[in-house]
Amino acid sequence: MDKIHKSDADWREQLDEQQFQVTRCSATERAFTGKYWDNHEDGTYTCVCCGAPLFASSTKFDSGSGWPSFWEPREDASVAVKADHSHGMVREEVVCARCDAHLGHLFPDGPRPTGLRYCINSASLAFVPGAKE
Ligand code: FE
Repeated sequence: MDKIHKSDADWREQLDEQQFQVTRCSATERAFTGKYWDNHEDGTYTCVCCGAPLFASSTKFDSGSGWPSFWEPREDASVAVKADHSHGMVREEVVCARCDAHLGHLFPDGPRPTGLRYCINSASLAFVPGAKE
């Protein structure tokens, strides 16, 4: 996979302020405010920064958290997971493997079959309606 690197000025040109703060500065949108936490359409969730396909609607579940939640990425290589020690917590940060956009965090309290919960900001995603995959 070819990595994408852009300056903050270039990212700011293509993103709105909230998308920039979340994806490039690791901010978190307020729960229940994003575009996709309650989206139940079939399709693919892509990276708002680079367009990489990240999550399939078939792996989305209602976590009650107020953020879009998935039990696995579309492909293992789609996302990368890094240790995050901010805010006095030890969490696993989920980023886009192609452009390093901050997506959200990974928690070990998801449903079967993986038991994982990828808790993702709507602001980091775009949605492409399509066939259930
Ligand atoms: Fe990306």
